[in-house]
Amino acid sequence: MNCKSLKMNRRSLLTTMLAGSLTTSSIVNPHETDLEKESNHSCQQRNPLLWAVAWSNTAAEFGALCHQAFNLAKVKVDQAKQRHAESRRPLAVMTDIDNTIFHASSYWSHLIDQGIDFFDDAIWDRWIPENLISLVPGAREFLAYCNELGVEVFYVTNRNQGPETYDYALRQLQYLELPYADREHLTVFRDSSDKTPARERVKKSHELVLLLGDNLNDFKRDYYVTNIEQRFALMERDKQEFGDRFIVLPNPTDGHWVRAIFGESEPAPTEETRSTLLAAATKGAWDNN
Ligand SMILES: [Mg+2]
Repeated sequence: MNCKSLKMNRRSLLTTMLAGSLTTSSIVNPHETDLEKESNHSCQQRNPLLWAVAWSNTAAEFGALCHQAFNLAKVKVDQAKQRHAESRRPLAVMTDIDNTIFHASSYWSHLIDQGIDFFDDAIWDRWIPENLISLVPGAREFLAYCNELGVEVFYVTNRNQGPETYDYALRQLQYLELPYADREHLTVFRDSSDKTPARERVKKSHELVLLLGDNLNDFKRDYYVTNIEQRFALMERDKQEFGDRFIVLPNPTDGHWVRAIFGESEPAPTEETRSTLLAAATKGAWDNN
């Protein structure tokens, strides 16, 4: 039994209770409550998100990888600035938002706390307006550095929290006091994860020197394929771009790598998807027999 089904069982128990077929005294049993608590805790301990979330919430190595990415990004911006003649188009960088500069750690921890083991869109949509977002290590310094050099920062994201999606995203950028947090520099795609139109639009007026993202789709739409090997081969094809025009940030919880495993970015939390995840994790396992 998984944590989610335990929660459902508790809910159906309460429904039955409210319908009058069970008395309160037959349910409120301290021993039973302890057992239920223990089962829930045991389920939480087996949540497949644990390692990924614990890593991004606690590992100094996560922070070091972020700094490494932004340090490299600074070098590339410096080089572009040195090459740049004043008469040319202004310089710009484009960055994805979620899991590239924003860290949604309390959202993922909440899922685990609730016994949920897959991305939950409804909870995400409730979490976003709460403004509980923080920045990944190095993001603020890098964006401020671009601002200092006069390199414009364009933000692009695909989110959908209804008609207020754009305002939520803009408010978060402003709440974190990031440079260029205005309507001219923020693009939000509600219906598609294809960020190509935003890149093309900026290229018309600026020299786009750098792209930052946690998902290969942030760099090229080519990577929007569901075949793991094909996606990997495309990445190898473009290997010279990483650390050059493309700066990749670490994200072990979500993205199109998930889509390549399941065929969709936000798979439903079912026994079938859990088996698919197990198969992905044990692919090529050592057969010690
Ligand atoms: Mg992202």
